[in-house]
Amino acid sequence: MANQKGSTYVTTMVCVTCGAEQFFDDAVPASLTCPKCQSTVFRQFTTPTERDEASIAQLEEQARSMSYGDASPGTAADDVRDLDT
Ligand SMILES: [Zn+2]
Repeated sequence: MANQKGSTYVTTMVCVTCGAEQFFDDAVPASLTCPKCQSTVFRQFTTPTERDEASIAQLEEQARSMSYGDASPGTAADDVRDLDT
């Protein structure tokens, strides 16, 4: 509930060598290695979790600013509280 705003899209990294997919719901690691073939070359796709064409275009434009918003202290505090209970 607290993370609803930051969980509306998922980033898929597809290995160009073997096609293995890895999913990230926020930031993609700077250095990513394929667990199957150890390749470091990927194709990146950003997919909204709600299948809405209007949201797709909107999220592509807002992806950067939304990522920065997720790092807000308020969101982090909520996450810690949820994990503790
Ligand atoms: Zn691979």
